[in-house]
Amino acid sequence: MDLNARNLINGEWRDAAVTAENTCPADGARLGTTPVSGADTMVEAIEAAHAAFPGWSGTPAPKRGELLFRLVRILEREAEPLSRALALEEGKVIGEARGEVQKAIRYVEFAAGDARRLAGITVPSELSGTFAFTFWRPHGVVGLITPWNFPVCIPLWKMAPALVAGNTVVLKPAPETPYTAHLIGMYCEEAGFPKGVVNVVHGDAAPALALIDHPHVRAVSFTGSTEVGLKVSARCAQLNKPVQCEMGGKNPLLVLDDADLDKAAAACAQGAFGSTGQRCTATSRAIVMEGVADAFVAKVAALGRALRAGHPLEEGVTMGPSVSERQMEKVVSYTDIGAAEAKLVFGGGRIDGLPRGWFPAPTMFDHVAPTARVATEEIFGPVLSVIRVASVDDAIDAANAVQFGLTASVYTNDLSRAFAVIERLDTGMTQVNAPTMGGEAHLPFGGVKNTGVGPREMGPDAWKFYAEQKTVYINHGGARRTSSFY
Ligand code: NAD
Repeated sequence: MDLNARNLINGEWRDAAVTAENTCPADGARLGTTPVSGADTMVEAIEAAHAAFPGWSGTPAPKRGELLFRLVRILEREAEPLSRALALEEGKVIGEARGEVQKAIRYVEFAAGDARRLAGITVPSELSGTFAFTFWRPHGVVGLITPWNFPVCIPLWKMAPALVAGNTVVLKPAPETPYTAHLIGMYCEEAGFPKGVVNVVHGDAAPALALIDHPHVRAVSFTGSTEVGLKVSARCAQLNKPVQCEMGGKNPLLVLDDADLDKAAAACAQGAFGSTGQRCTATSRAIVMEGVADAFVAKVAALGRALRAGHPLEEGVTMGPSVSERQMEKVVSYTDIGAAEAKLVFGGGRIDGLPRGWFPAPTMFDHVAPTARVATEEIFGPVLSVIRVASVDDAIDAANAVQFGLTASVYTNDLSRAFAVIERLDTGMTQVNAPTMGGEAHLPFGGVKNTGVGPREMGPDAWKFYAEQKTVYINHGGARRTSSFY
């Protein structure tokens, strides 16, 4: 195959002196090459974005939005090839890949509509003859650093609000999934963004660090691991740059003893094993009240055992591989750790009988202590830990006993219990009687604690991270009307 990624700098497609092979994690097939860019290449992209900023920020926002609507139409036309490229290089099954592309289209569409809003405020001044209002100015060049697990959605959910607010962007996508980022760059080019407005530089830490540090880069939006994200956040704080980091998760699904167990089990299996557990919103802990735990475990185990792993483009396959050998080995090492900490219900190790590809076995542990490593550390694979609890209070305490706080789900048919849980869970998002996954374009997305730093992504305020509010007082000297009081 020839899925060769190239850097997009100042409207030109550039090859790199050094490239790496991009392979399909399901069977090792060679997909193409990807540039391994260094800091120098990144600086060229930043300079191009800096040069393009006056023209782009001076373009009326609704005109900027028109280009994003054009991008929506291109993404709709290209949805199938984009989904297939995503499935091939990331490994998620084609149905999940199609779902990701549809979500990405909704994000761009929603942000494009924001072009006609971007509203400041107008309020009465306390001074006579004075008019007061605010408006929003873009930062300049913004740096976007993204992970491999949603390589279509995440770059687009950052780029779209950044562009609509009038910034120029440099995207540094994950090295594991370069071709989807390459396609996004191609679609932006076709949509007609002026040269230098959208730049894509491939590589790993070196170009990312150069992006963060460069003085022309006025804000940084990062999604990735907590380990890297905390460093990005600390560096931006030192440099006094606005930063938002969306990082790791360890999302719980709480099953109270009045829950519909079939629905809870289906959501749990989908959340734990779907996308091979490689979602930031994956369900990695099931916190279950003791009275229903045996029945719940049996139901989830039946669903987990029925999964069919294989090539993501193959009909009937319900679970793809880990994104890489390294990721699979990490997952397998955790199944070994879990086997020493808790009771193995099924799985462990790699899947037998798949000669090629990086396939960890879907795995479930029961009787896991809330403090166990498999219950507290992000594994990012199809591994579920069941924690049994005696009460709703214990369930909430167990749910909150981790450093992460992205999302959670609670299954109950008792509204007052649901609200107690919603209010007390330390998470950015909570689902009731629905899986931990999901996020709609017009609602904020993000986490608390070591999952999230900075304002939320998506939703009606997403673009505000990419702009500064300016307050204006105009002393026009004329009173609007005479007053009998003053
Ligand atoms: P990662 O942290 O390894 O890499 C993320 C990005 O950072 C990549 O582009 C990488 O090249 C770059 N990078 C690597 N070293 C860097 C450095 N020193 N400084 C700056 N950038 C650097 O994460 P990953 O393995 O690509 O993605 C998986 C992680 O992403 C998981 O922890 C997952 O939970 C998280 N994630 C979070 C969300 C969310 O919204 N909270 C969404 C998706 C994924």
